[in-house]
Amino acid sequence: MTKPPLTIHLAAPRGFCAGVDRAIKIVEMALEKWGAPVFVRHEIVHNKFVVDNLRDQGAVFVEELEDCPDDRPVIFSAHGVPKSVPAAAEARQMIYVDATCPLVSKVHIEAERHAENGLQIVMIGHAGHPETIGTMGQLPAGDVLLVETVEDVATLDVRDPGKLAYVTQTTLSIDDTADVVAALQERFPAIVGPHKEDICYATTNRQQAVKEIAPLCDALLVVGAPNSSNSKRLVEVGARAGCSYAQLVQRAGDIDWRALEGIGSLGITAGASAPEVLVNEVIDAFRDRFDVTVNLVETAQERVNFKVPRVLREEA
Ligand code: SF4
Repeated sequence: MTKPPLTIHLAAPRGFCAGVDRAIKIVEMALEKWGAPVFVRHEIVHNKFVVDNLRDQGAVFVEELEDCPDDRPVIFSAHGVPKSVPAAAEARQMIYVDATCPLVSKVHIEAERHAENGLQIVMIGHAGHPETIGTMGQLPAGDVLLVETVEDVATLDVRDPGKLAYVTQTTLSIDDTADVVAALQERFPAIVGPHKEDICYATTNRQQAVKEIAPLCDALLVVGAPNSSNSKRLVEVGARAGCSYAQLVQRAGDIDWRALEGIGSLGITAGASAPEVLVNEVIDAFRDRFDVTVNLVETAQERVNFKVPRVLREEA
């Protein structure tokens, strides 16, 4: 039986960013240096495949520092942690390695600097996301106000409208964030923003690539986890850019083949915490059913690379 033709527009960049790459390397190098078990507070990055893989190598994932013994190393996830977490690890004289992405740490420093200058911080982010909790936790409780939407801006109760600054989560939708920033600036004209966007290069590039391919496609699949903020944003960006069927899939097994019957073009991308092996698994699943032509759509090249912390670069 001949297979129907299908053009896959493959977004580039997609998948792992430098912060995720570094965080995974940190866990692997910690296992090498100290042996198993190495504890990891929270999913090191939001991807089940990655987490399962590291668990197989001897990493133990826990929710809180209290779940770790004093005498084993602990790693903090790429999303960042409130200040109280390393402080508690120090008090218990634990060995800890902070895998917070340097671009998240940059936002932490920004927030602290603004607070030192007497400004109250408004954080644009998603309530409950570990990155939001980590960034807000750089300052005493109540010092950082959270807004998620334009509507939230109207109800903000600030200390002094003339002494405000905003920071953002690194993985937000660029367009939605621009709307929230505009609402903040309209209500609080003196509000201070970041010198350079807090939304990171990887989020920006992946969203840009999706905007490029979405109008070409009958359907778009984003390989990523349901708890991955940047992956969910890629689905939204794809839908808004004109692709009527945009879905998140963790693996090939999640593909809804019924919904994709009769398509002639498909966009594929992957969130910053999704490994390429899963993208290939998805493409291979399409090759089984379609006569696939892959068209790589490259909208940017990335050469960002972050060093692992010194403690892991030193001899064991
Ligand atoms: S998505 Fe951006 S901020 Fe988050 S880990 Fe990757 S590079 Fe860092």
